[in-house]
Amino acid sequence: MDKNFLIQEILRLKEEKNAVILAHYYQNEEIQEIADFIGDSLELSKKAQNTNADIIVFAGVHFMAETAKILNPDKKVVLPDFNAGCSLADGCNPKDFKLFKEKHPDHVVVTYINCSAEIKAMSDLVCTSSNAKKIIGSIPSDKKIIFAPDQNLGSYLQKETQRELVLWEGSCVVHEAFSLDKLIEIYNKNPTAKIAAHPESESHILKAAHYIGSTSGIINFIKTDPAAVFIVATEAGILHELSKAVPEKTLIPAPSTEDNTCACSECAFMKVNTLEKLYLCLKNESPEILVNEPLRIEALKPIQRMLELS
Ligand code: SF4
Repeated sequence: MDKNFLIQEILRLKEEKNAVILAHYYQNEEIQEIADFIGDSLELSKKAQNTNADIIVFAGVHFMAETAKILNPDKKVVLPDFNAGCSLADGCNPKDFKLFKEKHPDHVVVTYINCSAEIKAMSDLVCTSSNAKKIIGSIPSDKKIIFAPDQNLGSYLQKETQRELVLWEGSCVVHEAFSLDKLIEIYNKNPTAKIAAHPESESHILKAAHYIGSTSGIINFIKTDPAAVFIVATEAGILHELSKAVPEKTLIPAPSTEDNTCACSECAFMKVNTLEKLYLCLKNESPEILVNEPLRIEALKPIQRMLELS
């Protein structure tokens, strides 16, 4: 379909149906351009909680749209592609997680927001990479803690908070793919550059970083730090908004091990959403995200605790 037609129709339907388009920073550029709000998981959760729209078009992956539905049971939440998954959420199934919990009784369960409603419902607290340190810090020091599903973020939090965490062995396929050798090679060619990394990255990448933080943390760091060149170790989609905000700075996506062509890391799950799918889901109000009420109520509790703490 013609791009101009899609844009016109999305804008018309949005108005007609009182819809809001929330897009994650990892969405493709066309979707970011038409979105009402662009943000990371925490920012979009808050937007979803405060919106007056009747329909939330969530341009992101399934667990994000599901979180929006948990927060907004009376609103219709649609996702451009129902198969937009996440290696972290998909790698933590409720049956196995229940067994994992049973092996570690008396532990406070903290889960990263990148998990399904079923996993959230089994959690005491949910966190994002923006507030994870604060959430772990809110737990009394005599309590033992399970952290799932991201072992890289969990290891980073162990070091930062000096707390012993029992880690679920999951990881993000994008952040796990960064190559230290190639990163060093780029850094040697740009010795004044600063390296900014997301804590979902492996520890050897984090050790090389000048700054470690969430997507929005990395954006703020690059906007405010005086350096002129940055190597960015997170999903390459954030470079779109960033390059508009700091056109005078050079932004280099961190290279991945697999990638010998464009040297950038993109999340294939995020990129299944397209402008055409966004148009169709707004037009047809489908695929819709539905969460049964008893599950929603249980999954909401740890999210609400997170929002109160952050
Ligand atoms: S970038 Fe990683 S954590 Fe984010 S949606 Fe993709 S697979 Fe999941």
